Amino acid sequence: MIATTLSTIVIAMLAAGLLLALVQARRWRAGRAAEVDFVAGLKALPRRYLVDVHEVVARNSFNSRFHALTAGGFLASLVLIVALALPPLRHGAVWALLSLALAAMLAGGLMVGWRRRVERPAELSGGRFSRLPFALLAYAAAFLTVALDQTAGGLLPGWLALALVLVGAWGCAELVLGVWKGPLKHAVHGALHLVAHPRPLRFRDGAGRDSAIRPLDLEAPKLGTERPVDFDWNRLLGFDACVQCGRCETACPAYAAGLPLNPKKLIQDLVTALDEEGSDRSYAGHGHPGRPLGGVHGGPAEPVIGPMVHPDTLWACTTCRACVQECPMMIEHVDAVIDLRRFQTLELGATPGKAAGVLEELRATDNPGGRPLSRRLDWAVDLDLPVLAGKGGCDVLLWLGDGAFELRTQRSLRALVRLLRRAGVDFAVLGAEELDCGDVARRLGDEATFQDLARRNVTTLRRYRFDRIVTADPHALHTLRNEYRPFGLDVPVVHHTAFLLDLLREGLLKAETRLSDSVTYHDPCYLGRYNGEIDAPRALLDAIGLTRVEMERSGLRSSCCGGGGGAPLTDVAGERRIPDVRMDHARATGAATVAVACPNCALMLEGVVGPRPQVAEIAELVLAATEPRP
Ligand code: SF4
Ligand code: SF4
Repeated sequence: MIATTLSTIVIAMLAAGLLLALVQARRWRAGRAAEVDFVAGLKALPRRYLVDVHEVVARNSFNSRFHALTAGGFLASLVLIVALALPPLRHGAVWALLSLALAAMLAGGLMVGWRRRVERPAELSGGRFSRLPFALLAYAAAFLTVALDQTAGGLLPGWLALALVLVGAWGCAELVLGVWKGPLKHAVHGALHLVAHPRPLRFRDGAGRDSAIRPLDLEAPKLGTERPVDFDWNRLLGFDACVQCGRCETACPAYAAGLPLNPKKLIQDLVTALDEEGSDRSYAGHGHPGRPLGGVHGGPAEPVIGPMVHPDTLWACTTCRACVQECPMMIEHVDAVIDLRRFQTLELGATPGKAAGVLEELRATDNPGGRPLSRRLDWAVDLDLPVLAGKGGCDVLLWLGDGAFELRTQRSLRALVRLLRRAGVDFAVLGAEELDCGDVARRLGDEATFQDLARRNVTTLRRYRFDRIVTADPHALHTLRNEYRPFGLDVPVVHHTAFLLDLLREGLLKAETRLSDSVTYHDPCYLGRYNGEIDAPRALLDAIGLTRVEMERSGLRSSCCGGGGGAPLTDVAGERRIPDVRMDHARATGAATVAVACPNCALMLEGVVGPRPQVAEIAELVLAATEPRP
């Protein structure tokens, strides 16, 4: 009798869960059609769950242990309880196995209880989420007692066994509701999202890192995303896979600086908007800094930007991908931000702050500062830079970027040019033929200007012979390497730190003077997270003898300097400035110098006032180390 009751309850709950999942699926199907290779996604699912998701969860070993115990025990218990529906399987061995599975789940549930009720990290949501430990413990403890009793031959009085089954049934129902709209969403929505992921190549079973913004069809009737239903259906599914773990919130530099953006809340706003007359009244996590909770409302066919999401939230993002890097459900926050920005910029012309003027300059003069391209080499008049148009071909095309118009960047470019000369590299520049690469236009949502610049730059580049492009600007590197491919560019693009390291290793540059200062290295988001390049700059600093100390956040988990995504142009106000927060991380190391490898990072960090480490571009440090001894 107990076995039949138990298996009937669990089968009924599973059926209810399936029904609720179908109800949810109707919400995602309201989105735009998208091509999804379901067969490949299903085949890849175990690996994506057990390798890619696990890799993120395992960054906290306590979390990964309780996930394994709870999920493993729960799934095994479901299989065993369903098996008990068959009378021939109702014997002691199956009950004993069930006891083992439930004991593992109980241990995991206690750990979940510790984390959610005792430790209580601020980034976790409350409400329905804080009931999770009780549901896990009710299910595991009640059914474990019953299973042990059945293993021992059924010693408990019938009424007590039944009461325990009812307690377990409540836990089970709560868990099913958690799968539908709560902390266990990753079980169904998460799995489906991993199957139908909009960027299948980002997983280890694909090509690996996939961080390029996708081109927009500029002939489409509507440019960008205005309403939730304008997202592809599998993006809506992706948002709905969010389990409000708050890892993105903790990683977000805009949130840390008190700008009105919390990536977790942004994703929840998009989920909320899938409901007719959706509102954030039942949201039980941190909101966007400075914005009250409870007033947000919208629906699937209502504009997202407006009563649902304040425009400042959209423009506060630096597109640094820290949120994406930390999300265990592999949600693509930045893609959503860019899609929404595209509608604001291309359809409404609502780009805020200095950004609108900069985009106008860019369209008129092909560089964001509005300076004549013929003056790109003014800073190097004494260096007599070889220009590709005069040379016809070279080994290395040095892409200067718009930093060539900035005093600070000119200093590090001069150091780089001297190093190339010292190593005897056959290089040239494009000079006036180099247009802005379009990075800032694309991040600000102006896809039309980006595509125009990309096509014209690619046409120029294809006229010349060179083996590779070297640049000191990670934004240009990412754009030329990854985002120009659909426009016909397919040449190696190398960051100057990797190139200088090769020159040192080949003996073409020699570290003559060992620098003795301590240094901490700030990873540029577009080099580290976007392109996975975190080793070469460090190896370079080590090679020239500097004592390197790491900041609290470094490598792929580094924090942004605030300079990406057009953020310095949209300039949304917060409690602090993002570079000030980042400089705090650098100060805490006690290093004398922060080494940077990006013109934006140099500008942002040098703008920090007060006592702080000095800021040096890596090329400047390498130049100092390779100066011949007096
Ligand atoms: S990309 Fe960076 S700034 Fe934007 S939401 Fe994610 S973490 Fe925050
Ligand atoms: S978006 Fe991802 S990281 Fe952020 S709360 Fe949701 S699941 Fe966690």
